[in-house]
Amino acid sequence: MLDKLLNTVSSSINSQLNSNSAKKLKHQAHQMLHRSLDQHITLAVTGFSRSGKTAFITALVEQLTMRADKENLPFFDVIQSDRLIAAKTVPQDALALPTFPYKQALTSIKDAQPNWPDSTQRINTLRLALKYQPNSGIRRQITDTSTLIIDLIDYPGEWLMDLPMLSLSFEQWCKQQFELLNQNPRAQYTNELLAKLDALNLDAPVNESELSQIADMYKVLLQRFKKESKLTILQPGRMLIPGDLEGAPLLMFFPVNINNEDEIVEGSNLAHLNKRYQAYIKEVVTPFYQNYFCRFDRQIILVDLLTALTQGSNVLAEQGRAIEQLLAHFNYGQSSFIKRLFSPKIDKLLFAANKSDHLSTEHHKDLAILLNSIVQQAQNALKFDGVQVETMAMSSICATKAVAVKDKNNKQIKCIYGKEIQSGQWMTYLPAQPPMRALSQHEWPKEGFSFPEFYPQLTADNNLRHVRLDHVCEFLLGDKLK
Ligand code: GDP
Repeated sequence: MLDKLLNTVSSSINSQLNSNSAKKLKHQAHQMLHRSLDQHITLAVTGFSRSGKTAFITALVEQLTMRADKENLPFFDVIQSDRLIAAKTVPQDALALPTFPYKQALTSIKDAQPNWPDSTQRINTLRLALKYQPNSGIRRQITDTSTLIIDLIDYPGEWLMDLPMLSLSFEQWCKQQFELLNQNPRAQYTNELLAKLDALNLDAPVNESELSQIADMYKVLLQRFKKESKLTILQPGRMLIPGDLEGAPLLMFFPVNINNEDEIVEGSNLAHLNKRYQAYIKEVVTPFYQNYFCRFDRQIILVDLLTALTQGSNVLAEQGRAIEQLLAHFNYGQSSFIKRLFSPKIDKLLFAANKSDHLSTEHHKDLAILLNSIVQQAQNALKFDGVQVETMAMSSICATKAVAVKDKNNKQIKCIYGKEIQSGQWMTYLPAQPPMRALSQHEWPKEGFSFPEFYPQLTADNNLRHVRLDHVCEFLLGDKLK
């Protein structure tokens, strides 16, 4: 029915325009018709580096295309009510973007020695089509089967952290970064850099080699913050994952201690750094934002609280701050029928505390409560704007299974069992209960928290297991599949 309608429209257009323009118009008409009938959504899979975006997309595609049955995804209504006909990956519209390497990711997880796929080093996309029987609304009147197209976009988490720079001048950015450099856990690494910055004469004529030497030093520092402290606010993100910008001069800037932006002397070191910062915002961050971040309909924000808890109170607090900074750069709100055609807004947002399989099942809810407390303020503002927001603990791909062991008093203790990454050994582990809110430094337990990482674990018949991926699907997609 829809295709007939489109063919009629396009043949009348064809007769009036040359074939290129007609094709373009037909394509646009297709997209608008799909949007108008809620047949297309762009899902923002958002998360900082190593929050689990690659694993999430791989699991979502695998579970929907290969394991879409009631036993595996019981809370996904379209499956529970026997209305999902089939799901498959289909060719994407965005021809200039690389395709998400789903098969490659799955191969490494399903290997004889299961391993996690490599995290993303560039932007890529994947299109998924879900064919189903509608059970309500206009779609049921006009068609027996309908197809929901879902565009998933994956990108390095490091690039995401550049978005807050969009609203900062070089001076404001420097102030923010300087504050961070002087605070723990960063301060323990920054003495050498701060001494170099002290010695740099900002008003002196530009000295390229001195600037590039300090830029290299700053880059090494960002790499240490990422690797050793698992920090989130690491800017500029392309210094860590440059993509095709490796060696480009616009990456060679760093924060300096400026007192007054108006006093920038032309041709000086400061003028040069300011120019590079502006170029970075204009030529790298802005296009990334405009091309990929303005057109989302739904969003899942994956948060790895367990790694943050392992690192300590500063890192956990930084996660909260970074999420808040990020939210300012997405379009949220209720989207009317007409608005959705031209400028979609995110009307459903899921905060997902990922990797919950690193806890015993009885503590999953505590993880959700902790995340809820961290995003409470932001959540409130979003709900006020009519956005449906949910927080849950989930796991895209389980790396452990629940086991019960008896202690010396014969009491059953709920533990997890898996192959730990650091030691390479299979082990039974009793994970701590996560706190139900972000504790301050002086409330933090002396022994800290420790949540080891595990290799992915398959079922006996070589399948992936998940925790609440069906709830995630129902929340993010359920209403579009009615
Ligand atoms: P990305 O950088 O956001 O794409 O993160 P990845 O998907 O590459 O995940 C980073 C790491 O987190 C992986 O190598 C795993 O160690 C871990 N991980 C990701 N997803 C899960 C999950 O669902 N469960 C568990 N247990 N670990 C996960």
